[in-house]
Amino acid sequence: MLSVRNPATGATIAELRQDDAQSVSEKYFAAHTAQPAWAAQPLSARLDALRRFRDALTSDVERLAAVLTSETGKPIRQSRNEIKGSTGRIDFFLESTEKAIAVRDVHNAAGMREQISHEPLGVVANISAWNYPYFVGSNVFVPALLTGNAVLYKPSEFATLTGIEIGKLLHRSGIPQHIFAVLVGDGAIGSELIKQPIDGVFFTGSYATGQRIAREVGPRMLKLQLELGGKDPIYVREDVDIAVAAASLADGAMYNTGQSCCSVERIYVHQTIYEDFVRAFVKEVAGFKRGDPTADDTYIGPLTRAPQIDVLERQVADAVAKGAKLRLGGTRLPPPGQWFSPTVLTDVDHSMDVMREESFGPIIGIQEVPNDEEAVRLMNDTEYGLTAGVYTKDQQQANQILSQLRAGSVYWNCCDRVSPRLPWSGIGHSGVGLTLSTYGIETFTRPKAWHLKSA
Ligand code: NAD
Repeated sequence: MLSVRNPATGATIAELRQDDAQSVSEKYFAAHTAQPAWAAQPLSARLDALRRFRDALTSDVERLAAVLTSETGKPIRQSRNEIKGSTGRIDFFLESTEKAIAVRDVHNAAGMREQISHEPLGVVANISAWNYPYFVGSNVFVPALLTGNAVLYKPSEFATLTGIEIGKLLHRSGIPQHIFAVLVGDGAIGSELIKQPIDGVFFTGSYATGQRIAREVGPRMLKLQLELGGKDPIYVREDVDIAVAAASLADGAMYNTGQSCCSVERIYVHQTIYEDFVRAFVKEVAGFKRGDPTADDTYIGPLTRAPQIDVLERQVADAVAKGAKLRLGGTRLPPPGQWFSPTVLTDVDHSMDVMREESFGPIIGIQEVPNDEEAVRLMNDTEYGLTAGVYTKDQQQANQILSQLRAGSVYWNCCDRVSPRLPWSGIGHSGVGLTLSTYGIETFTRPKAWHLKSA
């Protein structure tokens, strides 16, 4: 059985029957058998089903948000935002799929015609993370289903109730049972899933698990996408409005209790405004309300995974031992539940784990820099490359800096932001492949080349 616990209270809220090797294999073969008929349906039928799913999410936000908050501890307003935000992403897929996968005529001369069609991959595994199950799930299963694939969806063991709700809503919306199957369980079930003769693996999670999956799947020459972690930096130049930048970055670092793949995890500040910025930033973070995630005014909740508290404690101890100053927080809070106080460290440098390893919690390191060149060098001094950005009034200088940053997404005067219209991808330990944008629709298809000669 899989025990589901409420991270805010420690109470067990559900005991779920897990899948096992046999049921995973049965779900694979059922999907494999059903997929050709799903792919043969007109696109309009698949669009209609996903449109009904979008409408079902919209009309059930309150109940679904309560489920999400109960198992992840996500503050309730942020749960509602996520569900509503994911309907916007679904709209993008509904509007863009037909054009993205239309047959393309690329050449027609002297009796020779060349075309590209987009064929579904077949049965794909969608192994998902818990921190934004609606976002990271729908980035994969919505375009995968629209393009004619069957999806075996393995939600995180920390967001399984939400995964089951998603499955029920999809089925009620007209997606056949075997075309979208939910697999219940932890990493062992994810591991069983990728042993099946599937046609693609779309994974969202940590670098460590991504590496394990790549090792298993690599030799089989499958389509493999890995959306992994980050250590996302922002540089604050000397010309900013300090209060505005501090408020925006405090939100970027602490939203979802710092558990976002694109949370701001490192801040570099020009030395002329360093102390003023730190003061403004600490004031912002100290003003965030922490507590019961079901309360409307709560901004910081518990940590979804208890072991992450040990990581945060180690990062604080390591930084302080090496000379960092603790300006706020820095401690685990007593049970019930899994809590860590919002933490601001200054006088940090790259010898410290807090500036190198993903923290994935409500903690930030702020480092002073003498100039733009050093800021760029430090921002790129990482094995990750998900997002990075700069705050400045000078657009030309911003462009100059952003063009040098080694990251999948770059930001000017904003952060912790994802758009369905733009590709979402990482460099280095942040992963391979992409979701979102029209590329994130095509990626669920295999381009097929047609060479057509008239007699
Ligand atoms: P995780 O790697 O612990 O787990 C992710 C999923 O993999 C879960 O469903 C888990 O059950 C499964 N899994 C575990 N071991 C497996 C195995 N051996 N084989 C197959 N599946 C296995 O990650 P998490 O704690 O759920 O998520 C947090 C991480 O995800 C962070 O690093 C975060 O940055 C990253 N993330 C990245 C993005 C992105 O878009 N790049 C988005 C959200 C989260």
